[in-house]
Amino acid sequence: EPILNIKQLNARVEEKEILYDINLQIHKGETHVLMGPNGAGKSTLGYVLMGNPKYQVTGGNILFKGKDVTEESADKRAKDGMFLSFQEPLEVPGLTVSAFIRNAIQQKKGGYIKLWDFKKELDKNLKFLDMDPSYAERSLNVGFSGGEKKKAEILQLMMLKPNLAILDETDSGLDVDAVRLVSKGVEEYQKDRDGALLIITHSTRILESLHVDYTHVMVNGHIVATGDGSLVDRINEEGYESFVSEAEEVK
Ligand code: ADP
Ligand code: MG
Ligand code: MG
Repeated sequence: EPILNIKQLNARVEEKEILYDINLQIHKGETHVLMGPNGAGKSTLGYVLMGNPKYQVTGGNILFKGKDVTEESADKRAKDGMFLSFQEPLEVPGLTVSAFIRNAIQQKKGGYIKLWDFKKELDKNLKFLDMDPSYAERSLNVGFSGGEKKKAEILQLMMLKPNLAILDETDSGLDVDAVRLVSKGVEEYQKDRDGALLIITHSTRILESLHVDYTHVMVNGHIVATGDGSLVDRINEEGYESFVSEAEEVK
């Protein structure tokens, strides 16, 4: 049984249809990449999967770990083990990175974790991501640089170990060193083979060091092509032009 099973999903935002007939299955241990030109609907799919109330499902279903979550709140989906990294993460003054992550783990587990055990794990992961320990005691995303925000998301990914992680443009606007650390963190999450990944990107830098099982191309709210990791190379060579014309024929 897939971790995520999207069936004939249609969705809109602000009365505008964005996603059409999306079918996608992601199994445990798999890494899927979703690519496509700007405005194709990739982020919309991420928000719809996570249950952002601004986006309405107008058809189809989302099954997560065998359960229909189409009508469930974002909060419930997160507790069930779904994780979405945001293109623009929220700033929360007064809530430290450390407290935020510990609370999220406790919510998910439905129980208390000892501060000592938590700190040990947190420090290990901070070190892995080349982040100063003081970073964890700062207010979440407040005054963080773009790179620090992305690293904070990867830290959450490594600490929370969600069943499904959706990473939306986690690599955009980062310098080479930050991209390397982000992909190192994602690689570490992949190693577990216990979760599944949907990586949304329109650059391929983050993919260079990652294993990719499936690549999907979205154009105008449709998935117009699916292939293995080598589809990324075709996109690199040809751009989206050929996919766009294929999509025109579908219409
Ligand atoms: P991508 O992530 O592939 O660049 P998006 O999902 O962000 O694409 O956007 C898809 C389309 O939906 C675009 O035409 C965009 O303008 C529109 N859209 C996305 N979010 C909103 C919103 N909150 N209000 C109105 N239109 C939106
Ligand atoms: Mg975009
Ligand atoms: Mg986007």
